Formats: sequence, C-alpha cells, structure tokens
Amino acid sequence: MKVIYPGSFDPITNGHLDIIERACKQFKHVVVAVLQNNNKKSLFTTEERIELIKESCSGFDNLEVDAFSGLLIDYAKLKNSKAIIRGLRAVSDYENEMQMSLANKYLCDEIETFLMVSGTEYTYLSSSLVKEIASFGGDVSNFVPKPVLEALKTKFYKL
Ligand code: ADP
Repeated sequence: MKVIYPGSFDPITNGHLDIIERACKQFKHVVVAVLQNNNKKSLFTTEERIELIKESCSGFDNLEVDAFSGLLIDYAKLKNSKAIIRGLRAVSDYENEMQMSLANKYLCDEIETFLMVSGTEYTYLSSSLVKEIASFGGDVSNFVPKPVLEALKTKFYKL
C-alpha cells in the first residue's frame, strides 16, 4: 500500500524520522509530502525542507519526497494513494489529528488515516521547539538529523 505522510517539516526532526522509518517498514511506498502553505510563516523554504528530508532519509529505497498545496485528499488521489499517516505525540495532538482525519474521511470516504504513536523519546519533540532552542543558541544535536543541524547553524549564526 502507498501511504502519504504530510506535514510542515519545518524542519524535519528525529521524531518525524522515527515515524518515517517505521512507516517504511510497514508500507510498500511512503510519500513524505511537504505542505506548501504561504499563510504560515516558515523558517525554511519548501525546497530547503524537501532537500533536508532527502539528505536525512537517504537510506530508504521505498521513500519519495514531494511537496503539495491545497486539499490533502486531492493530493492523495493524484498520487493514487488511499492512506495517510500522521504522528501522535501527546493528548494535545489528539484533538487536531482526530478533527483532521474525520474531516478527510468526510471529504473522501475511501482514504484512511493511520495514526502512529510517537516513540517515547520523541514525545516532547516538535519543529517549533527545535527552532526556539536553536534561535537562542541551545544545543539541538540530539533532536535533529545532521543535515538539519548544519542548516540551523547557517540560518541562525550565518556560519
Ligand atoms: P503539521 O504542521 O502538519 O502538524 P509537522 O511537521 O509539525 O506538520 O508534523 C507532521 C506530522 O508529524 C504530524 O502528524 C505530527 O503530529 C507528527 N510529528 C511531529 N513531531 C513528531 C514527533 N516528535 N513524534 C511523532 N510524530 C511527530
């Protein structure tokens, strides 16, 4: 089965990577789809986010990285996929994810959302937390893949 893993990935963290790794073992083909959202201010451009995901996930041969805009179900149909994966960290994620998966089910009954529970060591990890810590010069080396660490240093310290 082909599955779409959509998100902002601004930037990809070890929590996302854990979901991708586990999804690649369970599904035949995984498409990591970066949302192009012009209303949401992002640190990295869509192209940079895609490149960082590719560099961080070079070991998976059933993985594709792409960008999308508009409705997720339209994108899933375009990619011939009937499944969406989202990660669940804590109770705080639950309400949003539930709302989104029900809305998508309403819009297209054939597409299923699979919610994957985050690995315990990544429960607190988010892209926003990483950006906040990095912006103040804090150490995020255990939170993000190497290419992201380098990119954050360049963004924040102009190295
Ligand atoms: P979005 O803005 O769509 O939530 P994110 O890049 O923040 O985009 O997250 C994409 C998906 O990855 C979401 O389903 C989110 O819950 C999940 N996710 C984010 N961080 C983690 C993590 N540390 N562990 C597991 N899942 C995560």
